[in-house]
Amino acid sequence: MFLSFYYVLNTCSGEKGFVGFTMYLIVVCGGCGRLLVADAGKKSRRCPYCGARMRLAKAKRVGSAETAREASELVQHLKRRQL
Ligand SMILES: [Zn+2]
Repeated sequence: MFLSFYYVLNTCSGEKGFVGFTMYLIVVCGGCGRLLVADAGKKSRRCPYCGARMRLAKAKRVGSAETAREASELVQHLKRRQL
């Protein structure tokens, strides 16, 4: 499953809105399984929780967002879904 912030937003509000550029990716850490926000322009990301370094091209992506704020909101949304 792959969710974008705007997909979530539109699903919640019922509006069909602007779909922005992907600046941030929400990926799952291969080391600890937590959700991380990664800069879409970077090639790799170090997990702040377990220290594992992952290549974004190979990471499991679960979402995308245009801004850091949207990315963090999407992470919160996805965490709630996982509970
Ligand atoms: Zn980790």
